[in-house]
Amino acid sequence: MWKKAGILRATKRYTTVDCDCDEQLHQADVMEFERDGKTKYMAFCSLTGGAREVKEEELIGYTFQPAKVAELFHSLFRCRADVEMIIPGRLWKMGRSGVPVAGRSRDIYFTPRLNDDPQDIYSKLPDTKTPLLIVGSSRYSKSPDNPYDDNRIVSVDTILMIQDDKWALDMEWLHQLACDGPDEEPEPETRDATATTVGAMKKALHEYLETQYRHYCHELSRGNGSQLLKPITQEYLAERIGKSKPRVSALLELKVKFEKCKHPEIRAMWDASHDLELMIAYGNKHWGSRRRTA
Ligand SMILES: [Zn+2]
Repeated sequence: MWKKAGILRATKRYTTVDCDCDEQLHQADVMEFERDGKTKYMAFCSLTGGAREVKEEELIGYTFQPAKVAELFHSLFRCRADVEMIIPGRLWKMGRSGVPVAGRSRDIYFTPRLNDDPQDIYSKLPDTKTPLLIVGSSRYSKSPDNPYDDNRIVSVDTILMIQDDKWALDMEWLHQLACDGPDEEPEPETRDATATTVGAMKKALHEYLETQYRHYCHELSRGNGSQLLKPITQEYLAERIGKSKPRVSALLELKVKFEKCKHPEIRAMWDASHDLELMIAYGNKHWGSRRRTA
């Protein structure tokens, strides 16, 4: 698979192999010969005089092709921009991932190794918490010069797997990795996306208020007095509109004074869901007085 993807390139042919005899660890000379029109290889042990057939693959030396690995991750993360070589032979930038990692797009980087002068690599990474640096070796130093948390650095072997004979990313692990990290600000949305999210929140809040108001009217008609149905929660709202709770929280701005809210309409609806009087006022305005609805 590595060879097929061009990640490993055959660079040399060995003329000796590790001997499998029990005498000692040593190399056995390989002889090439023809049999039935095919090239065969035999390894001869100088200590025991024994011989064994050797497959051609055992004789080929491979070199790791970092540029090909960068291309592979570029395609797996569905990065939009072209692969860019930042430091020749050492650091590649795959650009922003089209595949979200723990709920957000990230800048993906690849380096074959991080042991020699890792600060050269770190200095080229953006000063944010979102980049993901993939390292070709699982042995990288956890250098104190690393300005980022170590869990933003992953080794190839932990995230790459084979599924149905194809390369795949271990998304579950990647997700866990990013979620275990320090708290991040929710990813900023474009102005249009924010308007869409606010619109979805408005609709969900309106529907919830209607349920609360119907419940209130129903209980009142049964002589149960004025009762407020459980107020809406941020978790419920987030799940309802398919956004993260931090995103919902950021738009609600519950810690900001009402006058300073960027989206006062959703804040007013949120407040109404948590206050019987405000809820009744909202209900009367939208669905008529309780006498008409009851
Ligand atoms: Zn031997």
